[in-house]
Amino acid sequence: MSLLKQAEYIISQRKQMAEQAAADNYRKALEIPEIMEAEKEYGSVLPRYCRCEALGVIDEEKRAKYEKAREKRKQALKKYGFSEKDFLPRYNCPSCSDSGYKNGSPCSCLRQAINNIITESYGINVAQLPAFDYVDPALDEAVKAHLGGVYERMKKYCEGFPSTKFATHVFSGLTGTGKTHLACCVAKRVMERGYTVIFLTAFKLNEIFLRYHLDHRDGGRDYLENIYGCDLLVIDDLGTENIFKNVTVEYLLSLISERMFSGAHTLITTNLDGVQLMSRYGERLYSRLTDKRKTYIFQFTGENLRRIT
Ligand SMILES: [Zn+2]
Repeated sequence: MSLLKQAEYIISQRKQMAEQAAADNYRKALEIPEIMEAEKEYGSVLPRYCRCEALGVIDEEKRAKYEKAREKRKQALKKYGFSEKDFLPRYNCPSCSDSGYKNGSPCSCLRQAINNIITESYGINVAQLPAFDYVDPALDEAVKAHLGGVYERMKKYCEGFPSTKFATHVFSGLTGTGKTHLACCVAKRVMERGYTVIFLTAFKLNEIFLRYHLDHRDGGRDYLENIYGCDLLVIDDLGTENIFKNVTVEYLLSLISERMFSGAHTLITTNLDGVQLMSRYGERLYSRLTDKRKTYIFQFTGENLRRIT
């Protein structure tokens, strides 16, 4: 099944669940005789009242009956802990009522469902991404002060997304210094704000490149299209992947360059320093990733904080 079909199925399941929950609430409410009676009365006066309204006829008697029946129904529902809203589906995405499309174009919820499939194929549970409340009181004050600055900065980045000073961020530092944790917080917040996000390890991304390279027709073309097109792409742990000749560096350079050119946002975490990035990926990718006019680089230093990542 294509990514689009899978995502459409997920959205349709959400719609079905929301509608089923509303129908269940209505059925449960009608099991209560007092509500059933009020509902019947309301149901009998409503069409007559609506007809008058539609025809522009003012019939005070019908209006009074309607108001009375409506109030009686409202009170009966309230008495048993229901409200009229309980009978309407609570859609995950009010913008498209969980149809996945808005004015004929894919809604952002559908695009994000596609991205979640890609992200989750790498093993990240999107629903369990951490929030920004990272501060661990047990942490050393110096470490807290060091990380606090970048957390505050990235929080502001998320709130201002996508109109921010930098569209490309590189978190560099040793393993266990909290880079991935912060990248997860950023991904979660940007997603919550309604933008499309893909979170992948460099290892997984490299696999997708290779699959596509070996088979253009059926090798994850739809994965790549979404990876190129999402609002924020997070590449975690750059430098841990294998270098496949004619693939890894070339595809990565094309992806990063194209995203920079189109103004799309990219966040990269890496254990490598500048010298290592240069020797591994070459001058062109290195210069893009370290261009201070376009890229914000944060150096994670300090002790191993693996326990908070
Ligand atoms: Zn939607």
